[in-house]
Amino acid sequence: MTSLAGKGALVTGGGRGIGAAAAEALAVAGARVAVAARNMEQVVETAARLRGLGHEVFAFRCDVTLPLEVKDMALAASEALGQVDILVNNAGTATSNPLSRVSVEEWNHLMAVNATGTFLCTQAVLRGMEGRHWGRVVNVASVAGLEGARYISAYTAAKHAVVGFTRAVAAEVAGSGVTVNAVCPGYVDTPLTRETVNRIMHRADMSREDALEAILLQAGQTRLIEAAEVADKIVELCDPQSEGVNGEAVVIDGKDALA
Ligand code: NDP
Repeated sequence: MTSLAGKGALVTGGGRGIGAAAAEALAVAGARVAVAARNMEQVVETAARLRGLGHEVFAFRCDVTLPLEVKDMALAASEALGQVDILVNNAGTATSNPLSRVSVEEWNHLMAVNATGTFLCTQAVLRGMEGRHWGRVVNVASVAGLEGARYISAYTAAKHAVVGFTRAVAAEVAGSGVTVNAVCPGYVDTPLTRETVNRIMHRADMSREDALEAILLQAGQTRLIEAAEVADKIVELCDPQSEGVNGEAVVIDGKDALA
């Protein structure tokens, strides 16, 4: 028996990047898994790949910014999984712009996907977890949820909201058998980071290697973090043995190799 055998896990943004890695790691740990995102093709592909490895995985379409879609997804996932014991609020998006160029649309979109999506999905499943006296919510925040950096004011504000939300809900559920934690990665090797590197290449007329080096240097990282490293930390926080870890923001910053 693996540590999450018999548990049902819902991963938002599970079609690619960190979400797909988290879905795989949770499945390997024994959970039945549901992945959800707006792009049905990607979540269906992730689910098919993991089913091919012998895991029980379901795919759902959902835009986490829309309350009715979240409600429907939570219901469908509960039915498919039996119950949602684990929620990984991973769906997220990022942009970079100096503050003078941040439009209100960009600001609202980043807050909606990263922060409001986390709120809506958590609200949709938390009562069930509390009723069963067991549950794990892991919010994928960022080091930008704990500190500030140039040109990412909207993303930083949204991820600070995710960390604040994590701490507040953790206090609300303390002692109930449910825990709510956040992981705060630095730059991870995913399509989102590749988009960021592309943007810098074009704006600053740099090579891909120089653009990557520039973001790593600014972040103080010596390397990109692998999505699987974040996924392993998510699984660790979901383990029944992690009952005593609640309201934490766990940093995975890739500074391990610094002299
Ligand atoms: P990707 O862009 O590779 O994947 C993001 C996932 O979120 C996709 O599956 C996407 O699917 C989904 N998504 C985006 N918007 C919505 C929405 N409105 N509703 C539902 N799903 C949505 O990103 P990463 O894997 O890199 O990032 C995952 C999380 O990790 C994000 O929260 C990000 O902020 C965070 N993070 C990433 C870091 C990095 O360096 N990559 C560092 C720190 C944190 P679709 O477009 O089909 O909806």
